[in-house]
Amino acid sequence: MKGPRAATSDMGHGAPYEWQRDLPVGNTLHLPARAQCTLVLHQTDRSLFERKEIADWLADRETLVVGGGSNLVFVTPVILQSIHVDAAGWWIDREDHKSVDIVVEAGKGLDELVRETAGRGWFGMEALAEIPGSVGAAPVQNVGAYGTEIAEHVRWVEAFDRDEQGVVRLTARECEFGYRQSRFKREPGRWLIVRVSLRLGKQPPEHWPKTRYPGVDEALAEWSERSGQPPSAIGPDAFADLITAIRRRKLPDWRQGLPGSVGSFFQNPVVSIAKADHLASRWPAMPRFPAPGLDGRVKLSAGWLIEQCGWKGYRDDGVGVSPNHALVLMHYGGADGQDFWSLARRIRGSVERRFGIILEPEPRIVE
Ligand SMILES: Cc1cc2nc3c(=O)[nH]c(=O)nc-3n(C[C@H](O)[C@H](O)[C@H](O)COP(=O)(O)OP(=O)(O)OC[C@H]3O[C@@H](n4cnc5c(N)ncnc54)[C@H](O)[C@@H]3O)c2cc1C
Repeated sequence: MKGPRAATSDMGHGAPYEWQRDLPVGNTLHLPARAQCTLVLHQTDRSLFERKEIADWLADRETLVVGGGSNLVFVTPVILQSIHVDAAGWWIDREDHKSVDIVVEAGKGLDELVRETAGRGWFGMEALAEIPGSVGAAPVQNVGAYGTEIAEHVRWVEAFDRDEQGVVRLTARECEFGYRQSRFKREPGRWLIVRVSLRLGKQPPEHWPKTRYPGVDEALAEWSERSGQPPSAIGPDAFADLITAIRRRKLPDWRQGLPGSVGSFFQNPVVSIAKADHLASRWPAMPRFPAPGLDGRVKLSAGWLIEQCGWKGYRDDGVGVSPNHALVLMHYGGADGQDFWSLARRIRGSVERRFGIILEPEPRIVE
């Protein structure tokens, strides 16, 4: 392992960064994980990355970027080198009566940002309420929920390019966003995202509010009855609360301890129409979704495929599959990363044998 000469920074209080030894790595699966040496960035100024020791640390491919640990699966309990941005400020870059552009540092919690922007009456982030993790990681898999993806609001992403050794600003187009995809995910080990700029609306967008998702229509109708106002009068903060209530009924609470999860474990597979037709001839109840931008291919439900293989509610010692949601793999306690990964592989194997589809994990697997 390469490493800094001093274990901790000697720059004193208010230091822009520090080294920490043998740090537990928090993760929402609550799998045991420690990093032997971590560089923690308390600031995100470009000048920081001109320091040789930081650039060297990032140039080393061993160095794992860790945000909130809500999309990382630690199969190995020990990682040698990591980097973590904990700078979490945000500010307004530009605004007019229609929209506001903000700049957010990577360490800001995504859910906190949703609450703070929605609380000011700004539209755009509300459907992403209750998603754990950091703003810096949000562009990596283009986080999305209830019809909104972060990509729709990204103006630019500022990132350290570990190949080219410099900070660059990538436009939304250059980020190459797709469904749970981006250039950052396709090029693992290349980027450290340090700041993200987002454009939010000061007025409701067209088709406000989006309701075509399970549970949203009913919750909006209830809100409308309670408040005596039409559904279109709901503000972004009340909409964020409504999404929060829906999510809390379905998903384990990531703020609590065990059981742990990373949310959806597998991506919904995207297949050709011919393949989907072939499967549907055998399993007529199989859900399929045409998805924009998928070149005529269709998206299937990974959760449905897993459920058909009998995994929903499965539990074996410390690991299992949520009884509410077949796509959510759980750690109930006492298991390690190997146990968890072995369950995931068994599930993937049975779906492949039955349907001929290879499921891809959504989180990053750290082996
Ligand atoms: C209960 C639950 C519900 C969830 N629901 C959703 C959902 O509805 N929609 C959704 O899209 N996701 C969801 N997720 C997944 C997860 O919240 C997101 O993927 C989130 O963006 C991960 O953020 P993080 O900071 O925890 O990243 P981490 O888990 O720490 O890292 C994830 C990946 O991003 C990389 N990374 C982290 N920070 C940076 C950075 N600054 N620069 C470059 N790379 C970085 C890591 O190296 C790793 O590859 C859910 C997870 C849980 C536990």
